[in-house]
Amino acid sequence: MLCDTHAHLDFDDFDNDRDAVVERAEKAGISCIINPGCDVKTSVKAIRLSHTYKSIYAAVGIHPNSVADAGPGDILEIAHLASDPRVIAIGETGLDFYRKRSPIDVQIRAFRGHLELAKSLGLPVIIHFRDVEFGGIELVGLRYFEGISGVFHCFGGSVDFARKVVSMGFYVGFDGPLTFKKSDREEVAHAIPLDRCLIETDSPFLTPQKYRGNRNEPVYVHEVALKLAEIKCVDVIEVSETTTRNTCELFGIDSGI
Ligand SMILES: [Zn+2]
Repeated sequence: MLCDTHAHLDFDDFDNDRDAVVERAEKAGISCIINPGCDVKTSVKAIRLSHTYKSIYAAVGIHPNSVADAGPGDILEIAHLASDPRVIAIGETGLDFYRKRSPIDVQIRAFRGHLELAKSLGLPVIIHFRDVEFGGIELVGLRYFEGISGVFHCFGGSVDFARKVVSMGFYVGFDGPLTFKKSDREEVAHAIPLDRCLIETDSPFLTPQKYRGNRNEPVYVHEVALKLAEIKCVDVIEVSETTTRNTCELFGIDSGI
């Protein structure tokens, strides 16, 4: 049994065969797929999917690349959407200093708002942190991360920063890039205890090495589990069980798993 803790199945890429994609995943033992929103519209879609498919859970939030386009009432709308029983996290949120589609001060303000919302609702956060590490935590303020947990998804940072994230009580999310040849993420995965690791696909992006060239989908999360098992020198069953348990604990999913 496996969990895909980050998949954008609401994207148009899946409009023609979403049922088949979810069925393939469920048949392969993927009992839980978390679909984060990137703005109000996609958060609404994520919730709709979570009510359509029993394996899908929703997260609601405004992606750092979208916060510049968000209206003043959007965070209130996200707070409202978060009350849906299928919403198990706030996100995705965070900082993106690679694309910088949104001004940095706008990103910081929005990220703080999401962290405060998560704390007030007792929900974990799904964090997108790109091209930013310790400095990002400082800019936002360490106190905003206190009293909450979450995942730094699609982790692309240094070993030191991964250790920092774990020391803050957060999890580290690994996906397709872990399987790429000469991936620098192997070192990070090696350094982090398995009980702090989550696996994900970030579908439709970042297809694992074996299927590169194809659209990514949740069933390929198995490739990430296999690679993590290889790095950790453990059986893939241990990776599956531990990452599933981590997912259920973090997101409060009583999956019957
Ligand atoms: Zn994402």
